[in-house]
Amino acid sequence: MQHTNDTMNTSPLMRRFLANPTTQAAANWDCPTCGLIQGKRVTLMGATRYLRERCACQEAAALQKEQDKRRLEWIHWQRGRTFSWLGERWDDSAIR
Ligand SMILES: [Zn+2]
Repeated sequence: MQHTNDTMNTSPLMRRFLANPTTQAAANWDCPTCGLIQGKRVTLMGATRYLRERCACQEAAALQKEQDKRRLEWIHWQRGRTFSWLGERWDDSAIR
């Protein structure tokens, strides 16, 4: 008994792609700031799906988040470097 199953041969990437909406309307959404964001029509291996696009403020928010994360990492690194140089008994609370 042998079953042929299409999904068995489908890569995880393709399966993720196939999970996207099949209609334009389902991929469209409204941003309170930018207005209507149209889903992007993409055809991959004969299958057409509509991908939700990020709007300008989502892009900006993602960029800001990334910058904040980097700045925080840098501050932590600086702090660790400074106080390990001064010695173990020095920590943040000692100078406040
Ligand atoms: Zn927006």
